[in-house]
Amino acid sequence: MVATAIVERTASGVYGGVEPDAAWRDEVLRLAEERDAVILAHNYQLPEIQDIAHHTGDSLALSRIAAQSDARTIIFCGVHFMAETAKILSPEKTVLIPDERAGCSLADSITGAQLREWKAQHPGAVVVSYVNTTAEVKAETDICCTSSNAVDVVRSIPADREVLFCPDQFLGAHVKRETGRENLHIWAGECHVHAGINGPELAERAAANPDADLFIHPECGCATSALYLSGEGIVPAEKVKILSTGDMITAARSTNARKVLVATEVGMLHQLRKAAPEIDFRAVNDRASCTYMKMITPAALLRCVRDGLDEVHVDLETARRARGAVQRMIEIGQPGGGE
Ligand code: SF4
Repeated sequence: MVATAIVERTASGVYGGVEPDAAWRDEVLRLAEERDAVILAHNYQLPEIQDIAHHTGDSLALSRIAAQSDARTIIFCGVHFMAETAKILSPEKTVLIPDERAGCSLADSITGAQLREWKAQHPGAVVVSYVNTTAEVKAETDICCTSSNAVDVVRSIPADREVLFCPDQFLGAHVKRETGRENLHIWAGECHVHAGINGPELAERAAANPDADLFIHPECGCATSALYLSGEGIVPAEKVKILSTGDMITAARSTNARKVLVATEVGMLHQLRKAAPEIDFRAVNDRASCTYMKMITPAALLRCVRDGLDEVHVDLETARRARGAVQRMIEIGQPGGGE
């Protein structure tokens, strides 16, 4: 069923239809070895892409694996800002993304020029950016953050300093509520997928499944609205588990619940079902699917590994400044295995 859908989707696309069968798998892995490449897949990728990858995970974990790997080439199956982050952390390696058009509505909601203008309006403010940003925005940033460490990052900043938080307005609102900080300004960016995970639907699904746990995984912007709404008490607090990727897999293996509602992009269900096949995992909303993530098709991956396209470039000075923002985040606290 899934394979048919992929063939239909790619048949009309730029790269033609490719069946993700055993021959495709063998060819991709053979070409990857020939190219001395490691294939990394984000948790929101199509199941076939997750299954063929050498490693799956969230964007930051994958970037770290990329940096530690001996492979000369990184093939990043995710969206463009994630591949850029891998390049920032491994400037000496060749980083490829199977389709450079795989963008991110959240990362695209603020440009480097817009951030420079915002900074000019708030001289002396500290800029905190969610990792879902372009290399250019990271280069203008003081400290990056993930959904799991955003509160700690903001708390590390002296109380009298203004903070500019971008680009995710839901994560920003969550941080503002948790820290009680009035001098935190929030950029009005958002991920289009979060619209599929709204308050009434979250409350209704939780009420209809009183025995189910509710896993919220806000790593990518897609579920930061759920993070915010759960803090507002829209669902019973004892049912809500806000988890990083690694913790979500661990919780899936250890929970006593037989049913789990998952508030995140639907791709995450694949890893959860593999980790705990006996549990009934259900998406809070089946439509919470990222079209950009799904642009990395089996055909696009085959083309990438065969032709060495599309290569991701970040100029050295931008990479150096962006790396500083990521490293400051790591110094403040490990991103908790999260994003
Ligand atoms: S789910 Fe949202 S935040 Fe994540 S890559 Fe897609 S558009 Fe960007």
